[in-house]
Amino acid sequence: MSLSIPGAQNPLILPIAWPGSLPHAVGMPWPSRTGVNAQTAVRAIFLDRDGVINENRRDHVKEWSEFRFLPGAVEAVARLSRAGIAVFVITNQAIVNRGLVSRHTVDAINARMAGEIARQGGRIEAIAYCPHRPDEECACRKPRPGLLLALARRYRLDLSRAVMVGDALTDIDAGLAAGCQAILVLTGRGSEELARARTAGRNGFRVAADLSGAADLVLGSAPLR
Ligand SMILES: [Mg+2]
Ligand SMILES: [Zn+2]
Repeated sequence: MSLSIPGAQNPLILPIAWPGSLPHAVGMPWPSRTGVNAQTAVRAIFLDRDGVINENRRDHVKEWSEFRFLPGAVEAVARLSRAGIAVFVITNQAIVNRGLVSRHTVDAINARMAGEIARQGGRIEAIAYCPHRPDEECACRKPRPGLLLALARRYRLDLSRAVMVGDALTDIDAGLAAGCQAILVLTGRGSEELARARTAGRNGFRVAADLSGAADLVLGSAPLR
């Protein structure tokens, strides 16, 4: 089920139905953390999809048969979930408003991804995507922070205790604009994007080889910045 207001440039959010209430829902104490400073512990993580969880395709993921999990990605989500971190996926899918793929198909791909992750012990709370083309100048297409802000509102997330993980500088910029910490992974477009960042003298984010490495950073005791 996508929640959207026709005509409004809102992101589309697919909440994943879980039995019982969210462990980290509104107003509830978070599970106590050990080994990590509870005051600074990361409580939510936003994952870009293509190039982070699954292989990036230049011609886009248009159906489930084109979706390939990256090595270690599913296990990394499971580790984050087991640590009590709420995991969200946020993704630009302009292919929708370009007319290449229906919203229904994007939802179906995302639901299968979440189902497969759940089968292996991970838990995606919700997947939000921007269906708009760049020329529509919406507020949710990364590098704008609209996807993160919409999820933060809906799930009452403290963005200062959240981390954005992506393979593109647009992901990093969206995360930083929302007040999150950010990790660039070198899968997908990550290596090229890191080279661009170095050339431009960009910093303010961490770098990890892949989602598993990003999970190590988040679950480690070292501050991310
Ligand atoms: Mg990506
Ligand atoms: Zn948008």
